[in-house]
Amino acid sequence: MKIGILGGGQLAMMMVQMSAKHNIEFIVVDPSTNPPASKFAKCISSSFDDKISLDMLIESCDVVTIDFENVPSESLKYLEKNIEVYPGSYAVEICQDRLKEKQIFSKNNIPTTEYRVIDTESDLISAIEDLGKDTILKSRKLGYDGKNQITINNLTASDAWIQSGKNEAILEKKVDFKSELSIIGIRTKSGDTFYYPLVENFHQDGILNISVAPYEDNSLQKKAEEYHRKLSQELNYVGVLVIEFFLDHDNRLIANEMAPRVHNSGHWTNEGANISQFEAHIMAISDIKIQDIFANNNSGMLNILSKMPDNIDENSDEYKLYDYGKSERENRKLGHITLTSKNKKDLLSKISKLKDKIF
Ligand code: ADP
Ligand code: MG
Repeated sequence: MKIGILGGGQLAMMMVQMSAKHNIEFIVVDPSTNPPASKFAKCISSSFDDKISLDMLIESCDVVTIDFENVPSESLKYLEKNIEVYPGSYAVEICQDRLKEKQIFSKNNIPTTEYRVIDTESDLISAIEDLGKDTILKSRKLGYDGKNQITINNLTASDAWIQSGKNEAILEKKVDFKSELSIIGIRTKSGDTFYYPLVENFHQDGILNISVAPYEDNSLQKKAEEYHRKLSQELNYVGVLVIEFFLDHDNRLIANEMAPRVHNSGHWTNEGANISQFEAHIMAISDIKIQDIFANNNSGMLNILSKMPDNIDENSDEYKLYDYGKSERENRKLGHITLTSKNKKDLLSKISKLKDKIF
């Protein structure tokens, strides 16, 4: 089996590392020099729409996947004519556009945030009159880690519109949430689904900072799985699909967005589950049977952003460090640390101590 991956970041790197036992060969395509996955797999250095590279994948691979949702959907469509691509271009196109995501949530009766479509400054003026100033202007495309989002507060519509670069956007009402949760689910080729327990996520400035799993609540777990099942079926999805939710004060799950790939909030599964999200994704797209998925511990994950701390013990028994080998840059994800404990209280205390020690 040979798998091509569009995108060679840390997600591709961990897909390769975590599925080593299946003897799969990987080829990664990435425009940057020495992306994280290039240490572990053959890497073609080119843009994602380079026809020669795409033809090489068609020639040599059985299936192609992505580590990044903003690959041109035209490239996926070109590949799809010749080989299997999971997730497919239809699913990825929806996940590339916040408006299409909201529409598919609503179509499937999944509660989502209140929003208005913004194409012009006058749309923004009336949307702010309608939804108020406790709102966020989010570009429809190319948003990640809180990028391309403007909080309205005291800004005038005109200033916000200029700051946004006048791109197609949505104006979204802020949710007064009590927590943020994500469901990481896998759908196989035969349409079976498997779920990790809900994860609780803590963000700082729009970027994931800490994840803790499991978030134990049977009825929310069932609800999140029901939403995921509807979406993944509608998208004819194969592989890992993640939905991010707000949990409001009435204990309702409100879908925020989804990711057609393995996700930062699932990094804990490397140590904390019987099969990691990375291996599970590769198994699903290669049609290797998954028996069961479960968490075997309480797990925490801390992201390392901007700068690699110099006081991390690489050989610690207490935690595990993942260094993506990337150069330092403000708000760039450089690595993460995972911790596990049989006891949640103990885990939270370990996370807090580690946070104080390292950051
Ligand atoms: P990204 O693609 O950058 O992850 P998100 O829409 O998930 O975009 O926003 C990043 C984070 O910003 C969220 O996880 C949340 O903490 C905060 N945020 C985004 N939208 C809202 C909202 N409508 N209400 C409250 N917080 C929000
Ligand atoms: Mg998000």
